[in-house]
Amino acid sequence: MNSRKKLNFDTVVIGGGIAGLQTAIDLGDQGFKVAIIEKDATIGGTMIRLSKVFPTLDCASCITTPKMSEAAHHDNITLFTMCTLNALDKESNKVTASITQQPRYLDPDKCIGCRQCEYNCPVYVLDEEQGDLTLRKAAYIPFSNAIPQLALIDVENCSLCGKCAKVCPTDAIDYFQEPEDFIIEARTAVVTTGFNMTPADQKKEYGQGKIENVITALQMERILAPHGPYMRALRPSDGKEPESIAFIQCAGSRDKSLGVSYCSRVCCMYAIKQCMLLSGSLPLADLTIYYMDIRAFGKGYEQFYQNAKAMGIEFVKSKIASISQGADQSVALKYEAQEEGGKLATREHDLVVLSLGIVPEWDPTGICDIAKDTDQFIQCKMPKIAPTITSIEGMFTAGVASGPKDIVDTIAESGAAAMEAGNYMKHYH
Ligand SMILES: Cc1cc2nc3c(=O)[nH]c(=O)nc-3n(C[C@H](O)[C@H](O)[C@H](O)COP(=O)(O)OP(=O)(O)OC[C@H]3O[C@@H](n4cnc5c(N)ncnc54)[C@H](O)[C@@H]3O)c2cc1C
Ligand code: SF4
Ligand code: SF4
Repeated sequence: MNSRKKLNFDTVVIGGGIAGLQTAIDLGDQGFKVAIIEKDATIGGTMIRLSKVFPTLDCASCITTPKMSEAAHHDNITLFTMCTLNALDKESNKVTASITQQPRYLDPDKCIGCRQCEYNCPVYVLDEEQGDLTLRKAAYIPFSNAIPQLALIDVENCSLCGKCAKVCPTDAIDYFQEPEDFIIEARTAVVTTGFNMTPADQKKEYGQGKIENVITALQMERILAPHGPYMRALRPSDGKEPESIAFIQCAGSRDKSLGVSYCSRVCCMYAIKQCMLLSGSLPLADLTIYYMDIRAFGKGYEQFYQNAKAMGIEFVKSKIASISQGADQSVALKYEAQEEGGKLATREHDLVVLSLGIVPEWDPTGICDIAKDTDQFIQCKMPKIAPTITSIEGMFTAGVASGPKDIVDTIAESGAAAMEAGNYMKHYH
C-alpha cells in the first residue's frame, strides 16, 4: 500500500524563480490553488542573486523581494522548498508530481529564523550564495531576505559538535531528520525551472577555471551587490581595487565546441550593465568588452549600449585566442582584433569576467515525458502563437526553462502561462 502523503492543488509550478513566482501569483489572484516546488532552500531564483537589472538599473532585490513575499503570503499559494522532483506525469486529466522533501535538519514549524545556530556554529565553508568568494557557516540561512526565513544544516560539512542544538531557543534542531516523500495531484503544471551557466572551466583556451582573477558574470553580480562578499568592487586574489577590467562575451555561447550553438541573449546586456555599475564604483578603472557582435534586442537596449560607449567603456570586436596568467596577478589576453584585419594582439587586465552562456537547469529525461527542443530547453509547441504550451496537454512553461530570455520577457511569458493554464482549467478540464 502507498502511504505517501497526497496533496491536491489546481496547479503545480516547478521552480520558484521570478517566472514561477509570477505565474503562481497570477493564477492565485484568479482563485486557483497553487503549489510552488523549489529545489533550493529559498525561492527567488537567479534574480534575487543579481545586483541591479538592465536597462533601468533598478535594484534586483527591491523588485524580487516583494514578489517573493507576495507569493509566500498569498492565501492561494503554498511553498515547498528543498524539494526534489522525482516524477511529473499527466494521466487522465490529472498531473501527478512525486516529490521528496529534503531535510533541513530542523523542525520548520519551530525555527524562528533567529540565526543563533549560525552565529554559534564553528564550521566555515565557501558560501555558494556569494559565488564562493567568502565563507558561511555549516548552520545558516542562505541570505538575509531568503524566503522562508528558516535555517538549514549543511550535513556534508557539519562536525556534529552540538553547539547549534544547545543554543537554539526553540529546540528546533533535529540531526536525525529523514527525507520525506509526498505526492501532489493537480489539474495543470507549469515548468519554470530556469537555467544554469555553462561551466567556467570548460575551455582550455580560457585557462580551465584555474587562473586567479578570472571570474564569472554571476560572481561579478555578487561583487556589485550591496550585500556582496567584499562590500566593494575588489579583485579576489589580493583584494586590490582593479584598475582595468575586461569582459569576454560569448564565453560559452555560439560555440559549437561546447554544444551551445545559440546566443544566450542576455550576456551582452548584463556585461554592459556591469560595466556601467563598475564605472560608478571605480570611476578611474578602464573597462573593456571583447565581443563578436553586440545584441541589444529589447526596448531601450540599443540606447543603453550607446550610453555605455558615451561613458567611455571600450568595445573591442575580437575573438579570444587565449587567457593566461599575467605578471603581478594580472590576466593576459591574446585575441584576434577583428577591426585590424584579424591581427593577433595581447593585453593585460587586473580582472577578467567571463560572460558565460545559459543552459537549461532541469533535464526532464526519466522524470517527465515533456519534449525538449534541439538546444535541450523545454519545447514550445507553438512558439509564435502560444509560447507557453508544451508537448503535453495541461502542462505549460515560462521563463528561461524554454530558452534564454531577459526578465521583461520572462515576466510577460509567466503572465501568459498563467492565462493559458487558467483558461485550460476553466474550459477544458
Ligand atoms: C549574470 C546574469 C545577469 C543577468 N542580469 C539581468 C538583468 O540585469 N536584466 C534582465 O532582464 N535579465 C538579467 N539576467 C537574466 C535573468 O536572470 C533571467 O531572465 C531570469 O532570472 C529568469 O528567471 P526564471 O525564473 O526563468 O529562471 P531562474 O531564475 O533560473 O529560476 C528557476 C528556479 O527553478 C528552480 N529549479 C530548477 N530546477 C528545479 C527542479 N527540478 N525542481 C524544483 N525547482 C527547480 C531553481 O532552483 C530556480 O529557483 C541575467 C542573467 C545572468 C546570468
Ligand atoms: S534553528 Fe533554532 S537557532 Fe537556528 S534560526 Fe532556527 S530557531 Fe534560531
Ligand atoms: S552541529 Fe554542525 S551545524 Fe551545528 S554548530 Fe556544530 S558544526 Fe555547526
